Amino acid sequence: MATKNKKPTKKRLPRSAYNREEISAIFARFEEARPEPKGELAHVNPYTLVVAVALSAQATDIGVNRATKDLFKVADTPEKMLALGEEKVGEYIKTIGLWRNKAKNVIALSQKLVDDFDSVVPQTREELVTLPGVGRKTANVVMSMAFGIPTMAVDTHILRIGTRMKMAPAKTPDDVETILMRIIPEEYLYHAHHWLILHGRYTCVARKPKCEACIVADLCKSKEKTCDVPAPIIPIIDQEIPI
Ligand code: SF4
Repeated sequence: MATKNKKPTKKRLPRSAYNREEISAIFARFEEARPEPKGELAHVNPYTLVVAVALSAQATDIGVNRATKDLFKVADTPEKMLALGEEKVGEYIKTIGLWRNKAKNVIALSQKLVDDFDSVVPQTREELVTLPGVGRKTANVVMSMAFGIPTMAVDTHILRIGTRMKMAPAKTPDDVETILMRIIPEEYLYHAHHWLILHGRYTCVARKPKCEACIVADLCKSKEKTCDVPAPIIPIIDQEIPI
Protein backbone atom coordinates (compact mmCIF):
# COMPACT_ATOMS: atom_id res chain seq x y z
CA MET A 1 0.00 0.00 0.00
CA ALA A 2 1.36 3.40 -0.98
CA THR A 3 2.28 5.56 1.97
CA LYS A 4 1.32 9.21 1.96
CA ASN A 5 4.21 11.65 1.74
CA LYS A 6 4.46 13.24 5.13
CA LYS A 7 5.53 16.87 5.38
CA PRO A 8 8.67 17.24 7.51
CA THR A 9 7.58 18.48 10.92
CA LYS A 10 9.11 21.71 12.10
CA LYS A 11 10.66 21.50 15.53
CA ARG A 12 8.64 23.41 18.10
CA LEU A 13 10.81 25.82 20.00
CA PRO A 14 9.94 27.81 23.10
CA ARG A 15 8.60 31.30 22.47
CA SER A 16 10.54 34.40 23.23
CA ALA A 17 8.88 36.43 26.00
CA TYR A 18 9.39 39.60 23.96
CA ASN A 19 7.40 41.01 21.10
CA ARG A 20 8.96 42.55 18.03
CA GLU A 21 8.94 46.10 19.39
CA GLU A 22 10.57 45.05 22.64
CA ILE A 23 13.32 43.13 20.84
CA SER A 24 13.94 46.16 18.60
CA ALA A 25 14.10 48.43 21.64
CA ILE A 26 16.63 46.18 23.38
CA PHE A 27 18.95 46.04 20.37
CA ALA A 28 18.57 49.75 19.70
CA ARG A 29 19.95 50.33 23.22
CA PHE A 30 22.85 47.95 22.60
CA GLU A 31 23.60 49.77 19.36
CA GLU A 32 23.50 53.15 21.05
CA ALA A 33 25.90 51.97 23.75
CA ARG A 34 28.31 50.14 21.44
CA PRO A 35 27.82 51.22 17.81
CA GLU A 36 30.75 49.11 16.55
CA PRO A 37 31.24 46.17 18.91
CA LYS A 38 34.41 44.21 18.31
CA GLY A 39 35.37 40.66 19.15
CA GLU A 40 38.17 40.49 21.67
CA LEU A 41 40.21 37.66 20.12
CA ALA A 42 43.39 39.00 18.51
CA HIS A 43 44.07 37.84 14.94
CA VAL A 44 45.75 39.16 11.81
CA ASN A 45 43.85 37.32 9.04
CA PRO A 46 41.04 34.75 8.65
CA TYR A 47 43.46 31.87 9.23
CA THR A 48 44.74 33.19 12.57
CA LEU A 49 41.12 33.88 13.54
CA VAL A 50 40.22 30.22 12.96
CA VAL A 51 43.20 29.18 15.10
CA ALA A 52 42.38 31.70 17.86
CA VAL A 53 38.72 30.63 18.04
CA ALA A 54 39.68 26.96 18.06
CA LEU A 55 42.05 27.69 20.96
CA SER A 56 39.45 29.66 22.89
CA ALA A 57 37.28 26.70 23.97
CA GLN A 58 37.27 26.65 27.79
CA ALA A 59 39.79 29.51 27.86
CA THR A 60 39.51 33.27 28.19
CA ASP A 61 40.13 35.59 25.25
CA ILE A 62 42.83 37.34 27.29
CA GLY A 63 44.61 34.02 27.90
CA VAL A 64 44.39 33.06 24.22
CA ASN A 65 45.66 36.49 23.12
CA ARG A 66 48.61 36.22 25.47
CA ALA A 67 49.58 32.86 23.93
CA THR A 68 48.95 33.74 20.28
CA LYS A 69 50.77 37.09 20.41
CA ASP A 70 54.12 35.38 19.80
CA LEU A 71 52.73 32.38 17.90
CA PHE A 72 51.16 34.51 15.16
CA LYS A 73 54.39 36.47 14.72
CA VAL A 74 56.06 33.29 13.48
CA ALA A 75 53.07 31.40 12.05
CA ASP A 76 50.29 33.38 10.39
CA THR A 77 49.62 30.92 7.54
CA PRO A 78 48.85 27.18 7.49
CA GLU A 79 52.22 26.46 5.83
CA LYS A 80 54.19 28.30 8.50
CA MET A 81 52.21 26.54 11.24
CA LEU A 82 52.98 23.14 9.68
CA ALA A 83 56.67 24.08 9.42
CA LEU A 84 56.62 24.95 13.12
CA GLY A 85 55.20 21.54 14.02
CA GLU A 86 52.98 20.28 16.83
CA GLU A 87 55.62 20.29 19.54
CA LYS A 88 56.64 23.92 19.03
CA VAL A 89 53.01 25.03 18.68
CA GLY A 90 52.40 23.33 22.02
CA GLU A 91 55.17 25.36 23.62
CA TYR A 92 53.52 28.62 22.55
CA ILE A 93 50.07 27.66 23.83
CA LYS A 94 51.04 25.79 27.01
CA THR A 95 49.27 28.33 29.21
CA ILE A 96 45.88 27.50 27.64
CA GLY A 97 43.68 24.67 28.93
CA LEU A 98 43.69 21.45 26.89
CA TRP A 99 46.75 22.72 25.03
CA ARG A 100 48.02 19.31 23.91
CA ASN A 101 44.83 18.46 22.10
CA LYS A 102 44.52 22.00 20.75
CA ALA A 103 48.09 21.91 19.34
CA LYS A 104 47.16 18.68 17.57
CA ASN A 105 44.04 20.30 16.11
CA VAL A 106 45.90 23.42 14.98
CA ILE A 107 48.31 21.25 12.99
CA ALA A 108 45.50 19.03 11.65
CA LEU A 109 43.34 21.98 10.59
CA SER A 110 46.33 23.65 8.93
CA GLN A 111 47.06 20.45 7.01
CA LYS A 112 43.40 20.20 5.93
CA LEU A 113 43.45 23.82 4.72
CA VAL A 114 46.56 23.15 2.65
CA ASP A 115 45.29 19.82 1.27
CA ASP A 116 41.64 20.65 0.56
CA PHE A 117 41.25 24.43 0.40
CA ASP A 118 44.44 25.75 -1.23
CA SER A 119 45.37 27.26 2.14
CA VAL A 120 42.38 29.62 1.98
CA VAL A 121 39.87 29.64 4.84
CA PRO A 122 36.46 28.64 3.40
CA GLN A 123 33.46 30.90 3.95
CA THR A 124 30.64 28.39 4.37
CA ARG A 125 29.64 26.68 7.61
CA GLU A 126 29.49 23.31 5.86
CA GLU A 127 33.14 23.61 4.82
CA LEU A 128 34.41 25.23 8.00
CA VAL A 129 33.11 22.42 10.23
CA THR A 130 35.16 19.90 8.24
CA LEU A 131 38.31 21.44 9.79
CA PRO A 132 39.54 19.53 12.87
CA GLY A 133 38.62 21.33 16.09
CA VAL A 134 36.09 23.58 14.35
CA GLY A 135 32.48 23.14 15.44
CA ARG A 136 29.36 25.11 14.61
CA LYS A 137 30.12 27.88 17.12
CA THR A 138 33.67 28.41 15.83
CA ALA A 139 32.40 28.39 12.24
CA ASN A 140 29.79 31.03 13.12
CA VAL A 141 32.41 33.29 14.72
CA VAL A 142 34.71 32.97 11.70
CA MET A 143 31.88 33.63 9.21
CA SER A 144 30.88 36.75 11.12
CA MET A 145 34.25 38.23 12.06
CA ALA A 146 36.28 37.27 8.99
CA PHE A 147 33.66 37.47 6.26
CA GLY A 148 30.91 39.77 7.56
CA ILE A 149 28.17 37.13 7.37
CA PRO A 150 25.52 37.60 10.12
CA THR A 151 25.55 34.55 12.40
CA MET A 152 24.79 33.81 16.03
CA ALA A 153 27.63 31.93 17.73
CA VAL A 154 26.01 30.83 20.98
CA ASP A 155 28.57 30.69 23.75
CA THR A 156 28.05 30.28 27.48
CA HIS A 157 27.06 33.97 27.86
CA ILE A 158 24.44 33.95 25.12
CA LEU A 159 23.03 30.63 26.31
CA ARG A 160 22.64 32.08 29.82
CA ILE A 161 21.15 35.39 28.69
CA GLY A 162 18.72 33.63 26.34
CA THR A 163 17.23 31.73 29.26
CA ARG A 164 17.63 34.33 31.99
CA MET A 165 16.06 37.17 30.04
CA LYS A 166 13.58 34.73 28.45
CA MET A 167 14.62 36.10 25.08
CA ALA A 168 15.41 32.63 23.74
CA PRO A 169 14.51 30.25 26.56
CA ALA A 170 15.80 27.04 25.00
CA LYS A 171 18.15 24.46 26.47
CA THR A 172 20.63 23.86 23.67
CA PRO A 173 22.94 26.31 21.87
CA ASP A 174 21.50 25.25 18.49
CA ASP A 175 17.92 26.03 19.58
CA VAL A 176 18.94 29.36 21.13
CA GLU A 177 20.73 30.19 17.88
CA THR A 178 17.62 29.36 15.83
CA ILE A 179 15.33 31.49 18.01
CA LEU A 180 17.67 34.49 18.08
CA MET A 181 18.25 34.36 14.32
CA ARG A 182 14.45 34.46 13.90
CA ILE A 183 13.56 37.21 16.32
CA ILE A 184 16.41 39.72 15.99
CA PRO A 185 15.58 42.34 13.37
CA GLU A 186 17.83 42.16 10.31
CA GLU A 187 19.37 45.57 10.86
CA TYR A 188 20.78 44.43 14.20
CA LEU A 189 21.72 40.87 13.25
CA TYR A 190 25.31 41.44 12.22
CA HIS A 191 26.40 42.95 15.56
CA ALA A 192 23.87 41.09 17.77
CA HIS A 193 26.27 38.28 18.58
CA HIS A 194 28.90 40.65 19.97
CA TRP A 195 26.36 42.82 21.81
CA LEU A 196 24.97 39.78 23.62
CA ILE A 197 28.39 38.35 24.46
CA LEU A 198 29.62 41.69 25.83
CA HIS A 199 26.37 42.18 27.73
CA GLY A 200 26.81 38.74 29.32
CA ARG A 201 30.50 39.21 29.98
CA TYR A 202 30.30 42.60 31.67
CA THR A 203 26.71 43.25 32.84
CA CYS A 204 24.40 40.25 32.87
CA VAL A 205 27.17 38.20 34.48
CA ALA A 206 26.69 34.62 35.64
CA ARG A 207 26.72 34.94 39.44
CA LYS A 208 24.97 38.20 40.18
CA PRO A 209 23.78 40.25 37.23
CA LYS A 210 24.59 43.96 37.50
CA CYS A 211 21.01 45.03 36.93
CA GLU A 212 21.51 48.50 38.42
CA ALA A 213 23.99 49.24 35.60
CA CYS A 214 22.02 47.47 32.87
CA ILE A 215 20.86 49.58 29.92
CA VAL A 216 17.92 47.26 29.22
CA ALA A 217 16.82 46.74 32.82
CA ASP A 218 13.45 48.41 32.26
CA LEU A 219 12.75 46.06 29.36
CA CYS A 220 14.15 42.90 30.91
CA LYS A 221 11.63 40.22 31.93
CA SER A 222 14.03 38.15 34.00
CA LYS A 223 12.94 36.80 37.36
CA GLU A 224 16.56 37.25 38.44
CA LYS A 225 16.48 41.02 38.07
CA THR A 226 18.10 42.38 41.22
CA CYS A 227 16.85 45.97 41.27
CA ASP A 228 13.64 47.87 40.87
CA VAL A 229 13.42 49.59 37.55
CA PRO A 230 10.76 51.77 35.98
CA ALA A 231 8.11 50.19 33.81
CA PRO A 232 9.13 49.61 30.21
CA ILE A 233 9.44 52.90 28.39
CA ILE A 234 8.08 51.53 25.15
CA PRO A 235 4.47 50.45 24.74
CA ILE A 236 3.94 46.74 25.11
CA ILE A 237 2.02 45.51 22.12
CA ASP A 238 0.27 42.21 22.49
CA GLN A 239 1.99 40.54 19.60
CA GLU A 240 4.23 37.55 20.08
CA ILE A 241 6.96 36.78 17.61
CA PRO A 242 5.95 33.54 15.92
CA ILE A 243 8.57 30.92 16.61
S1 SF4 B 1 18.19 43.63 34.14
FE1 SF4 B 1 19.63 42.23 35.12
S2 SF4 B 1 18.94 40.19 34.50
FE2 SF4 B 1 18.00 41.67 33.10
S3 SF4 B 1 19.41 41.80 31.36
FE3 SF4 B 1 19.96 43.41 32.76
S4 SF4 B 1 21.57 42.52 34.03
FE4 SF4 B 1 20.51 40.81 33.04
